[in-house]
Amino acid sequence: MRFVTFITEGREIPGILAEDGRQVMSLAAVLRTDAYGDLAAFIRNYTDEDMEMLRQAAKDPAPFTPFRLSEVRLTAPIPHPGHDILCVGVNYKSHKDEADHGLSDKELAALVDPIYFSKRASRVTGPGEEVKGFFALDPHMDYETELAVVIGKTCRGVRREEAEDVIFGYSVFNDFSSRILQRKHKQWLVGKSLDGYAAMGPVIVTRDELPFPLELTLLGEVNGEERQHSNTRLMLTGVPKVIEDLSAGITLEPGDIIATGTPSGVAMGMAEPKWLRPGDEVRCTIEGIGTLVNHIS
Ligand code: MG
Repeated sequence: MRFVTFITEGREIPGILAEDGRQVMSLAAVLRTDAYGDLAAFIRNYTDEDMEMLRQAAKDPAPFTPFRLSEVRLTAPIPHPGHDILCVGVNYKSHKDEADHGLSDKELAALVDPIYFSKRASRVTGPGEEVKGFFALDPHMDYETELAVVIGKTCRGVRREEAEDVIFGYSVFNDFSSRILQRKHKQWLVGKSLDGYAAMGPVIVTRDELPFPLELTLLGEVNGEERQHSNTRLMLTGVPKVIEDLSAGITLEPGDIIATGTPSGVAMGMAEPKWLRPGDEVRCTIEGIGTLVNHIS
């Protein structure tokens, strides 16, 4: 199933995409309750019966006053996360090798445990939305195509063998980065957290729709030029161990987002970096989920 948040008449409404891929309907219309004000509330509280009703509605939307996708605007499935986004740094060998991450060669060579950092996003940028670059603050704006994992259960101490059980679903994430700030402050928080620099969408695909372990092709394109092309099976630290590591001493909550790192092909890795500029179109695609498109302004 594909969950979305769409905007109609100025309101953000949690809903699902019909199986035909052309219609959306609100959770409220299908479940006949206003209990779920946003997708995060649904992920926290849904019942098996809710899920079954939504599955039926995805097959046959007619009774549930569906909107044509062309009549509404999709926004980030979880526009206002309850916590900062949890991120994995340098999680593909190809990306580890291409760039100066602000770590010495010795530090990089000695890296055995994954880098985890957090990315603040008081509002996540949605599909089709503009990202306003902070070029005066830092002209080195970069893109990072990543698989996002959305947590489905409150959990701590999850063993890697059980990790799939605590996942609600997956989305496409662009970890827009501000490279001068990222290096300047050593800790990556500021360079990763400028307003609008977290983009996610267009949908959250539930975990049952994708194979596990995940073997999904990722593509990153700028103005139609392919820049990133890899597969999630090439992560240095796979999703099960990431969840095991993070949950060992930190409670994960429904709706939490984990951005799992990017492969090579970012501007930072180029001999002559092609930093993002106003007018650029960035497309991030992950097999089985969809394409997240954003324009830079
Ligand atoms: Mg990243």
